[in-house]
Amino acid sequence: MIEKPVLIRDDGLRHDGRRPDELRPIKMQVGILKNADGSAYVEYGGTKVVAAVYGPREVHPRHLALPDRALIRCRYHMAPFSTSDRKSPAPSRREIELSKVIREALEAVIFSELFPRTSIDIFIEVLQADGGTRTTGLTAASLALADAGIPMRDLIAGVAVGKVDGVLVLDIDELEDEYGEADMPIGYAASIDEIMLLQLNGVLTLEEFRRAIELAKEGARKIYDQMKKTLHDKYLKIIEK
Ligand code: ADP
Repeated sequence: MIEKPVLIRDDGLRHDGRRPDELRPIKMQVGILKNADGSAYVEYGGTKVVAAVYGPREVHPRHLALPDRALIRCRYHMAPFSTSDRKSPAPSRREIELSKVIREALEAVIFSELFPRTSIDIFIEVLQADGGTRTTGLTAASLALADAGIPMRDLIAGVAVGKVDGVLVLDIDELEDEYGEADMPIGYAASIDEIMLLQLNGVLTLEEFRRAIELAKEGARKIYDQMKKTLHDKYLKIIEK
C-alpha cells in the first residue's frame, strides 16, 4: 500500500508550498478558437481546460427544440492524454454527471428565454488533469459563453475547498483530493452573490462547512475579478486595433 503523503507540513504550508487560503497560479484567455462562437482556455496550476461555445443556433435534431427558450447542452470530457494512466475516450459515468452539474449551474445564469427554438452547445475539454477539473471547466465555460456574447445574469467562478490533515484548504489539487478528508467544489456568481453549484464529497462539521463556504467565496471572488479583467482586456484590444 502507498503511504499517505504529508499534506500539511510542520510550517503550516501545504505540500506545494501554498498557504491554506491560497489559490494555485491561474491563467485565462478568451477567443482562442476561430471556429467556435466563443472560447476560453483556463489553467488552475496543473489543470488545463479548453471550453468552446456554439450558439444560439438551429437545434439538431430538430424535435429537441424548446418553444419558449434555448436548449442548453453541455459536454464535459477528459482527453485520453489528460491523466497519467490513459483514460478511456468513451464517456464515463463521472463525465456524464459532471456535464449535468455544470450545465445546471450555467442554465441558472443564461437568459435562455431570449432565444426560443435554438440551442447553445458548450464543450469542455480537459487537456491536463490535476484536481478541480469541474471547477476549472465551469470557469472556462462561463468565460466562453461571455465571449460568445450570450446574455447572462452573472459570470460563474468555480473553485473547490478541501479538508486535508484536518485543515480547510482552498483550490485543492489532485494529491489533496486523493488523500484529503473532504472535497467541496462550488460555482459562485459573485455579483449576484449566489452559489450555482455545490457538491460535497467527504464529511465536514456544520462549523467547518460554514467556514469552507466563506473560504470558497473568497477564492471565487479573486477568480471572478480575473475573469472580468480577461474579458475586459479582450475588448480593449479590439478597440485599440
Ligand atoms: P475534479 O476534477 O472536479 O476535482 P474528481 O474529484 O472526480 O473531479 O477528480 C479529482 C481528480 O482526479 C481529477 O482532477 C483528476 O486529476 C483525477 N482523475 C479523475 N478521473 C480520472 C481518471 N479517469 N483517470 C485518472 N485520473 C483521474
